[in-house]
Amino acid sequence: MEIFAELSEHRYEQVVFCHDRQTGLRAIIAIHDTTLGPALGGCRMYPYASEDEALVDVLRLARGMTYKAAASGLNLGGGKSVIIGDPHTDKSEALFRSFGRYIETLGGRYIVAEDVGTSTEDMAHIRVETSHVVGADVTHGGSGDPSPFTALGVLQGMRACAEEVFGSSSLEGLTVAVQGLGHVGYNLCRLLHEEGANLIVTDVEEAAVERAISEFSAKPVEPDEILSVPCDILAPCALGAVINDETLPHLRCRIVAGSANNVLLEPRHGEELAGRGILYAPDYVINAGGLINVADELEGYNRARATQRVKRIYDSMKSIIAISRRDGVPTHVAADTLALERIQAISSIERLHTGHPYGERPRQREVL
Ligand code: NAD
Repeated sequence: MEIFAELSEHRYEQVVFCHDRQTGLRAIIAIHDTTLGPALGGCRMYPYASEDEALVDVLRLARGMTYKAAASGLNLGGGKSVIIGDPHTDKSEALFRSFGRYIETLGGRYIVAEDVGTSTEDMAHIRVETSHVVGADVTHGGSGDPSPFTALGVLQGMRACAEEVFGSSSLEGLTVAVQGLGHVGYNLCRLLHEEGANLIVTDVEEAAVERAISEFSAKPVEPDEILSVPCDILAPCALGAVINDETLPHLRCRIVAGSANNVLLEPRHGEELAGRGILYAPDYVINAGGLINVADELEGYNRARATQRVKRIYDSMKSIIAISRRDGVPTHVAADTLALERIQAISSIERLHTGHPYGERPRQREVL
């Protein structure tokens, strides 16, 4: 990869390679954009086949975080980190403390959180070396499991979509097909059931389906049927890329709104959804509840405040629908516009000098 060409094309601010011989640490931190605030993003640990693969992944993920934070109204930028290694065999206290020291050198420009392959325990090791970490467990004053908040955000996104398509933000009486009954899917079903929605569900784990049947009177279907069942809202909460050339012709829903990342196989599938009159709630906007919740730790975690902030995903989705109409573009494009407009508005604020007429002077080094 031509690294500087890539950084220039997508306007990355900084990439940090971290290497520690003693612990075997090989990590990359990518900071995409800090216009709105420090770059917050998870640390992924994965046995990447090559360094290039790790770099491509961290750059892609960091950029995605910029858009996600901006569209969520958070005062945060986008960043991400990856540790090259097998999370089952290569973890150690020393490895994460070493990584924590690298994060500390960035002085708060990057704030780390849990991600695929890392845990609250790993974050605890990092915390010994730096305060620039979020995602502690509840017993340590942290925000705990993000999934109920992610589910709440998805529900809010669904409300905004329902208002647009059916003329009311109430989900009562609507039929929602939920693919995947894991951490988010189960919590989403609970909220939808409380709202009086009818549920059609599937999962590859039979026990998860049985639980949804008994607790929420959900109607089960086979995993390969869920994308084509007649319903008002389809909620992908298991896998990415479920909206593709093969599945599109079979969809029988009016809205697609779920927690899964990268729901569209390619951007053009978002255009096809719009062409078929199906309203798509962009994944990174409506699944941001977990991020909004964990970011609240930066102000001293307050569950009630975090809940209120997650509920604003309704407003973000309304704005996206408005931009989609204003610009005549599909909603996945409108989501990017929402994020970019906010970043541009903040970056264009005049920089007012308050001190020295020529700006901050570099501090004099002490002469020993
Ligand atoms: P999870 O692993 O707890 O749940 C996924 C569920 O999907 C499991 O029950 C699994 O058995 C099921 N599943 C897997 N393959 C399936 C298939 N082919 N058909 C039907 N069901 C299948 O994960 P989660 O934390 O609930 O996250 C769900 C999705 O939401 C993921 O794509 C994740 O990246 C995304 N997401 C989660 C969060 C969060 O807070 N947990 C935040 C943002 C995005």
